[in-house]
Amino acid sequence: MAHQGFLQFFAKDRTFRPRKRFEPGTMKFNLHKQANASLNSGIDLKDVVRLPQGEDTNDWIAVHVVDFFNRINLLYGTICEYCTEQTCPTMSGGPKYEYHWCDGGNYKKPTALPAPQYISLLMEWVEAQINDEHIFPVRVGVPFPKNYMQVIKKMLTRLFRVFVHVYIHHFDKLVALGAEAHINTCYKHFYYFVTEYSLVDKKELEPLRDMTERICH
Ligand SMILES: [Zn+2]
Repeated sequence: MAHQGFLQFFAKDRTFRPRKRFEPGTMKFNLHKQANASLNSGIDLKDVVRLPQGEDTNDWIAVHVVDFFNRINLLYGTICEYCTEQTCPTMSGGPKYEYHWCDGGNYKKPTALPAPQYISLLMEWVEAQINDEHIFPVRVGVPFPKNYMQVIKKMLTRLFRVFVHVYIHHFDKLVALGAEAHINTCYKHFYYFVTEYSLVDKKELEPLRDMTERICH
C-alpha cells in the first residue's frame, strides 16, 4: 500500500508541470540559472544565498523555494523505498519530536500519520502552493500576494521536516547509497537560506541543532 503511494508520488513528480518552473527568458529563469551557477562554482554557500544586487527579494525567495522543493523531492526519492509504514509508523524526528499533519482539508485537526504518508501529503501540499498562480505569479508584472511571506514560511518550515526525518531515521541508508555529501550540501544551502531571511522559526530548527552546529560553520 505504502509502495503504491510512492509510485504515484513519483509519477506525479515526473509530470511536474514544466510551465510552473521558470520559463526561459523570464527574470525568474535567469535568477534560477544565476543561483545554480554560483552553487556549482564551489563558492561558500553562506555567500550564495545573499540577494544579488538589484534583484527582488520575493523573486529570489520564490526561485529558491522551487529549487529546494525539487531537490528535497529527489533526496527523499533516494530513500523512500526504505521509509514505510512499518519502518516509520509516525512522522518523527527522534524520540522527542513527532509531527502531525493538518491541512484544513481532509485533515482538519492535527493527525498522527506514518512518515511516508505525511511526507507524501507534505510534498503534494508544497507543490500545490507552487502551482498556485495567486501565490507564485507566473506573468511579469503580476505582484506577489500580501500573505506571500507567510505562505513561504509555512512551505519552508514543512520542507525542513523532511530533512529532520531523513537525517534522523534514514541517514545510514544515505551513507550506504553514497548520498551523504549530497544531502549535507543541500541541507547547508537550505539552512543558510532560511536563516539569512528568517524564514523558519528557531524552535522548528531545534531537532537538527546539534548536526547543524557540526556541519554549518
Ligand atoms: Zn522514514
